[in-house]
Amino acid sequence: MPLTILVVGLVRVQRWFVARRPAHNFVYSTVAHMLAATLAHQVYVELGPHDWGSLDITGSLVEFGWMLVAGLIYEGVQILYIGSVIALAAPEKANARTVLGSPADNVLEAITIGLGAVTAILLVIMPPTVAIMAVVTVVFNRLAEIEQLQADVRTDPKTQVANMRGWTESAERALTRAGKAADPLAILMIDLDHFKWINDTFGHPAGDDVLRHLAQLLDEVTRPSDVVGRFGGEEFLVLLPDTDQAAATVAGERIRSAVAGLRIRTTNKRGDQTLVADRTASIGVAVFPDHGDTLATLMQAADAAVYEAKEGGRNQVRIARAPQDPAPVPPPSREAKHIAH
Ligand code: GH3
Ligand code: MG
Ligand code: MG
Repeated sequence: MPLTILVVGLVRVQRWFVARRPAHNFVYSTVAHMLAATLAHQVYVELGPHDWGSLDITGSLVEFGWMLVAGLIYEGVQILYIGSVIALAAPEKANARTVLGSPADNVLEAITIGLGAVTAILLVIMPPTVAIMAVVTVVFNRLAEIEQLQADVRTDPKTQVANMRGWTESAERALTRAGKAADPLAILMIDLDHFKWINDTFGHPAGDDVLRHLAQLLDEVTRPSDVVGRFGGEEFLVLLPDTDQAAATVAGERIRSAVAGLRIRTTNKRGDQTLVADRTASIGVAVFPDHGDTLATLMQAADAAVYEAKEGGRNQVRIARAPQDPAPVPPPSREAKHIAH
């Protein structure tokens, strides 16, 4: 058992120089690793004796089963230990994904444990072959990194929702599917009202906090199949598959009133705690096929609808105009009249 703790300790010391995470965080997860490894080790030893030299088929199956149990204990302890702290630290944000980790995280962990088990077996029965596992592990790590990078290029770093690349890819796919199935599809463009005022009054970090809370709110009030994206600045997009004008208006209204009810604790320019509330958003709705049959025309229609919502006094949801329904010609301004005379 001391050897288990020593090995975990040594690996973590090496990780410390690579991971660059806050010390308390790092120490905590090191303890989680030690606890999980010690428990898994202890259970495995208790289940012994393990004489691999004389295993028949049934014996090796049983042995494999015990290893599986030890692996499950290792992963289970980590999930429980780290998940419970995440749940206790931020109960309001606790859901299956934040507490138990994403499916991708858990698969990664399971593969790592599997590689560890195979390495341990090789170390006992044919030590030189561990070199092969070293290569496999390095390649696997690189592949996992590439997957993470691929996810990163589709994510807005500030708000963690899709960026335009990620959102457009999803939207194009959904539009193709909607076209084939003759299903409707809606796009909401959401623009915060007088956002510049928040920056000017409380500072840009507070503005950023508002953007993060808005992104999280959009994620919460939409369905899992809807795709939230950041268009840029303080403008967000929501893709609503299988949604017609009536349903999209209901969704838009739900978002509008949720934004109006947002209360965000943040810091002002002097670093003091402050509350940002009573903010509103103007929302434009465009629906396939009513307002266009390409993503570009739909986004243009939703954008024009946002401007109509702004013109109409902000804090409202506007449906785009039908293509054959031109915008009313605004009355000439005083200067224009003057020039005409
Ligand atoms: P309107 O009601 O007409 O939409 O007014 P507005 O102030 O929301 O719109 P405007 O386009 O005048 O200002 C948007 C501001 O958003 C200006 C820009 O500095 C700010 N902004 C853009 N991106 C970010 C960001 O990532 N963080 C912060 N804090 N501010 C941002
Ligand atoms: Mg804007
Ligand atoms: Mg705005």
